[in-house]
Amino acid sequence: MGARAIVVAVVLLAVWPGAADAAGRCGSHPWCDTSLSPDRRADLLIGALTPAERIGLLAGDDPQGITGRAGTHTGAALGVPRLDLPPLYLTDGPVGVRQGQATALPSSISLAASFNRRLARRDGALVGNEAKLKGNDVVYAPTVNLLRTPLWGRAFESLGEDPFLTARMAVQWIRGAQAQGVIANVKHFAVNNQEDHRYSIDARVDERTLFELYLPQFEAAVKQAHVGSVMCSYNRLNGPHACENRWLLQQVLRKRWGFRGFVVADYGASKHIGSGLRAGLDFEPFPFIDYDGGEVYAPAAVQAAIAAGRTSQAAVDRAVHRLLRTLFAYGFFDRAAYADDEARIDRTAHAQEARRLAEAGIVLLQNIGRALPLDAKRLKSLAVIGADGDAYKNGGGSSNVQPYTLVTPRQGIVTRAGPGVDVRYDPGSDPARAAEVARTADAAVVVVADTAGEAADKPCLALDCGSAPGLKRDELIERVAAANKRTIVVLETAGPVLTPWRHKVEAIVEAWYPGSGGGAAIARVLFGDVDPGGRLPATFPNGPRDLPTSGNRSRYPGVNGVVRYSERGLVGYRWYQGRRPPPAFPFGHGLSYARVEFRGLRVRKRSASITVANAGRRAGIAVPQLYVQAPGGRRELKGFESVALRPGQSTRVRLKLDSRAFSHWDVHRDRWRIAPGCYRVEIGSSAQAIVTRSSIAMNGGRCR
Ligand code: BGC
Repeated sequence: MGARAIVVAVVLLAVWPGAADAAGRCGSHPWCDTSLSPDRRADLLIGALTPAERIGLLAGDDPQGITGRAGTHTGAALGVPRLDLPPLYLTDGPVGVRQGQATALPSSISLAASFNRRLARRDGALVGNEAKLKGNDVVYAPTVNLLRTPLWGRAFESLGEDPFLTARMAVQWIRGAQAQGVIANVKHFAVNNQEDHRYSIDARVDERTLFELYLPQFEAAVKQAHVGSVMCSYNRLNGPHACENRWLLQQVLRKRWGFRGFVVADYGASKHIGSGLRAGLDFEPFPFIDYDGGEVYAPAAVQAAIAAGRTSQAAVDRAVHRLLRTLFAYGFFDRAAYADDEARIDRTAHAQEARRLAEAGIVLLQNIGRALPLDAKRLKSLAVIGADGDAYKNGGGSSNVQPYTLVTPRQGIVTRAGPGVDVRYDPGSDPARAAEVARTADAAVVVVADTAGEAADKPCLALDCGSAPGLKRDELIERVAAANKRTIVVLETAGPVLTPWRHKVEAIVEAWYPGSGGGAAIARVLFGDVDPGGRLPATFPNGPRDLPTSGNRSRYPGVNGVVRYSERGLVGYRWYQGRRPPPAFPFGHGLSYARVEFRGLRVRKRSASITVANAGRRAGIAVPQLYVQAPGGRRELKGFESVALRPGQSTRVRLKLDSRAFSHWDVHRDRWRIAPGCYRVEIGSSAQAIVTRSSIAMNGGRCR
């Protein structure tokens, strides 16, 4: 092996464990020489393929997969057997594999709530592992679109309203998944922030807002996590559809960020073959549907487009090159095919992991009079109210995972409470009856969920909005709270909801859609076996009219096919800063059973450090959040850490600050720039609860 080949091999082994078992299904073709570069290998293979075979590689071949049935894949491209070009299998998604049953992880917003990068990596590793053991090469995840409005049907699938948090979690998720030997597919590129009119809506966003809010998480996925593929989204961005948007796919993704992987169309998102190929859409896994008269990458259509001069074989070959060079670079040819053999999935370990992840994402929003944790030794009776507490709750659409196993909140609570506690259950269909059940119990736990999913936004933010008629959840909570002073509300929601009853109940716990082990996780938090690890990755507004988009239809859901992001950078907590009334629960908020203190902030240009102490008698989790406020700007998250502390323990936490922490996107200079001035650096337990602050002069500026 030459020196270059050794370097290539070492790099491959470092980033790509699949390359280690070079069982190789490539054969003995010239392109199977692993000492050659991925580009060279792709060229050699393309040279051996007929033009028709190359055209065939632009699209998937299986119309059945999207059903999510066992033994199928969300996408399949059957390859070219004549040349040992193997089939490629692709699967959803962000909260688990959608292929028969799988481990259902807590929703992505729950993962974001953990503010814990190590857990993001483990989450990605688990999904990557199951994707591989179910025979897939690519996993369509993570979803990194910002939660611009909590009405978004896919709120549960997002990593919240902040680009820094989203980027940090997504990078680790991708690393975790790709280290398993599958290619991650970051989606949906870009500015896919609503389901209503999603196939056609034109998102009009100014460049600074794009670079500062809607694109950094994709940039981080490319530059830091080396994601192998990107899914372009349904919507238009400033005119052209994302999947034929040259500015987005060429200027930004490839030229500016140096992306070398392949671009996949969301299902039915390809519009015109000619402009798609010109812009750099390389592969359409599902050329069987088209929305709004789109033109799909099916072989006959591509042939016709070439014949009509709307595209060329050379353009096809460039796309195929990008697909193949990525597959070479990520070891796909040089390992055995992954068998669809889920017997090899360690379901027990994964179920435990899903439960731990759920615990880490649970947010204790309110805890008046120490209503929580419950003490099973002192409790004689407990009412569990609400049919949602006796069900599996998840989001609809391509993240709808069918769990291998399930623990509902009711089951989790009954098991944890033990035989000494009389746990009474009422489905809550009749609030008056439920209140009677709650009245004589020592405490009442009301479990309520919302309904959300892909393809439609929620019509409003109240708990019942969009749910089938049945439970009147807000009324149920009020009635139970009136009957039992110690009422605890457990929310299982896609994202922020309205909590008009919050002053009438003692405790509120947000468990999101908590996955397979959610019920056990909820019980362990309620009984204090673990500290609730979560902090809000999105703001809970005070009322329905308080959203950044409220009362402005051109902002949301759009008028005449256009949605204007005229709030610019003021998304989520950036919007709520200084506004009255304050939000019900701010971004970053979440209580601990421990008594956490932050002190001794020291700020330098490249890092800040803070002492985090647990002054209480219980172990707990602290999440110091570092916010930077540029001169004349708003508070923005630029650092965080999740720290587990024993009683009495204190530790010094160092939060790195890179130049981006102080930069803004300078539209005139077309680059990131640090404006001279005095920057505030703040440590908070939420975006509204700043505990300590300092300032630092940057770029020749002065602090007085
Ligand atoms: C979703 C994608 C998903 C695809 C395949 C689309 O409707 O937007 O996120 O990967 O379906 O299920």
